[in-house]
Amino acid sequence: MVALSKFIKYLIDNDVKCSGVFHDHSCKRNALLNTYKFMFSNMKYFAPIIGIPLLMRIRSLNRKVLQSTLMYYVEAVLAATAVGWSIQIIICFLRHLLGKFTSLTFLLLPTFIGSFCTFMVPSPRVHSLFSTTIVQCTLESLIMLENTALTKLIAHSTLIRAFIFMCCSALILNAKRKKTYKGFWLVEPTPYNAATVKQTGENDDNAACESSCNHKDQSCQQYALQGIRNFMLTGLGLDGIKMLMSTVPSNVNGFMAKLCVKLKAFKLRSFAILTSYVAIYRLLHCYFNRNFGGDSPLKHSVAAFLSGSSFIFFPKLTLLCYAIVLSLQIIWQYVTTYLTEERFGDTYEWVKRLPCKMMFYPIALAYLVNAYTINKNCVSKLGGMIINGITNNYVKTTHSSVEVVEHILARCSPTL
Ligand SMILES: [Zn+2]
Ligand SMILES: [Zn+2]
Repeated sequence: MVALSKFIKYLIDNDVKCSGVFHDHSCKRNALLNTYKFMFSNMKYFAPIIGIPLLMRIRSLNRKVLQSTLMYYVEAVLAATAVGWSIQIIICFLRHLLGKFTSLTFLLLPTFIGSFCTFMVPSPRVHSLFSTTIVQCTLESLIMLENTALTKLIAHSTLIRAFIFMCCSALILNAKRKKTYKGFWLVEPTPYNAATVKQTGENDDNAACESSCNHKDQSCQQYALQGIRNFMLTGLGLDGIKMLMSTVPSNVNGFMAKLCVKLKAFKLRSFAILTSYVAIYRLLHCYFNRNFGGDSPLKHSVAAFLSGSSFIFFPKLTLLCYAIVLSLQIIWQYVTTYLTEERFGDTYEWVKRLPCKMMFYPIALAYLVNAYTINKNCVSKLGGMIINGITNNYVKTTHSSVEVVEHILARCSPTL
């Protein structure tokens, strides 16, 4: 890996223009060409991300949902295109303005400034999608670097990861139940039932169900089985998609040989985590409701916490980081709700007004793009996929240019 300062020094010493690192044509032509290239790249990138969740709820689709999803898609494509496009414009502009590249203006500052273009599209769900995903990928990349004792522990210990996931699961499912968090999570919580168990003296399953759980049209067993069946199918579908998208080595020829390689890559991981998650959650929650005097937030939290142990079946860092980012958002929501005027007057009004998304997302994106360009192994797979997906592989091309300079520098100085 070449140090950024050495790389920039090489660019200045050899009077390299941005057409030698970032693009082939002139800056103006490049800006023009990238307008539609970024647009198409984003249309391709966001189609499965926003389209696949629609397939999962295909039975309840209606015109309103379709219209809202299409709007979401257009907003996401526009925001991502604006971000990618403005970053490359700012890179070229700053180089022309200063007459050279510097460590700060090479990528870090342009990405930081360009990321604010996301907020030009007035869509809270797009802001939320972008900031959550980018902060999640940055967190994953930082854990992968294993620079501190804590990140080393998380990266190497499956049990620690599972425990953190269990805590996040309790937080997220509780927030979803209270409707304070409305975004995506693996399972939907059972709605809260304020009524306590009626002391009827009947020991019949359905009588207990009706008075303690909030799935009145089904018995507890039916409710659990329905969840298990749905999540088994979703899990199988996701594992199937993963198998189909797995790469086949270039030396494997012939349809059957390729099919064999793909079939070997088939693992029931999403299937295992999703099915066990919903099964443990629903069965435990119903069990607590029926045997310990009805529904309560504490019992629900315990069921949500214990069901998080299913993470052990697929202890993927990407999923854990997603859960951590959601949990941090929920904790922040609790903090701001706690700091009410009745309790503290307007002392903490400024804390509530802090624009957290605007603070962390630009820094995270600038870090991610800069780190990928210098050494792509420092960035998580998902992070690399996202920053390349929204910029028509612009970051990958820049990384290749950096690699070329790295080889030249290595040849000049073998000790580098
Ligand atoms: Zn340029
Ligand atoms: Zn039940």
